Amino acid sequence: MSTDSEKPSVYQNFITGCHILHHHGVLDAYGHLSVRHPEKKDIFLMPRNIAPALLSSKADIVEYRVEDASPVDLDSPPGYVERFIHSEIYKKYPAVQSVIHSHAPSILPFTITGVDLRPCVHMSGFLGKHVPKFNIAEYYSEEDVRDLLIRNQRLGNHLSACFSKETNTSHHPVVLMRGHGFTVVGGGIEESVFRAIYTAENARIQTASLTLQLTATTSTTATGAHPVQSLYYLDDSEIRATTQMTQWSVMRPWNLWVHEAEANPLYTNNV
Ligand SMILES: [Zn+2]
Repeated sequence: MSTDSEKPSVYQNFITGCHILHHHGVLDAYGHLSVRHPEKKDIFLMPRNIAPALLSSKADIVEYRVEDASPVDLDSPPGYVERFIHSEIYKKYPAVQSVIHSHAPSILPFTITGVDLRPCVHMSGFLGKHVPKFNIAEYYSEEDVRDLLIRNQRLGNHLSACFSKETNTSHHPVVLMRGHGFTVVGGGIEESVFRAIYTAENARIQTASLTLQLTATTSTTATGAHPVQSLYYLDDSEIRATTQMTQWSVMRPWNLWVHEAEANPLYTNNV
């Protein structure tokens, strides 16, 4: 544990980030956080093949090449099969410093229905006006295992392309993956963790609101009462302003979440 006067190392933040994501139900035994190496931009860090909550030391962290997701050290412990999600995003978007892939249950209904995930609360404006959806079935080749996992560079490249915006060089922060989950990117571990947590939270709120609205609409239709107002989503100006607000305030929740993780005896951080 570091004192307030010490800046935590990327390794320490990385392990804590994994614990926070587990604590908030964004990761369970599956899903993963990665971070670009702070000095070597063509390298990224990921856990070895264990549940993220159990990460506890530098020995649990493996360095991979952005180029092809191969381990820098051939004697590294086994890693996750889906690390191509991360390598292809780092390759395509140099500004991205951290990636999270999650199977959070609250997101899944939005990946298998025609309902779009849209920002409906002020902490989720970063989602933007449109959250792209990736359907892996459009990209399978003959030799691919059809288990919905991103098992190679080709599938990772198709997924990473979904983050691109047509109108400029910026990128979407979140992409939904059919029947599987979502992937989120950030300018650092703190930002990607923030975005992952509030993406899942927005999905819970939106689903509850749609359910309420459907109930209200059904009852007013039955009684002939005045139709119910449609859901309020953030408009364009609110999306811009709330995105800025959460960018400058990201350390407030992060510092709380660090303390929550440190206070939970399930998690160990020996860095
Ligand atoms: Zn996955």
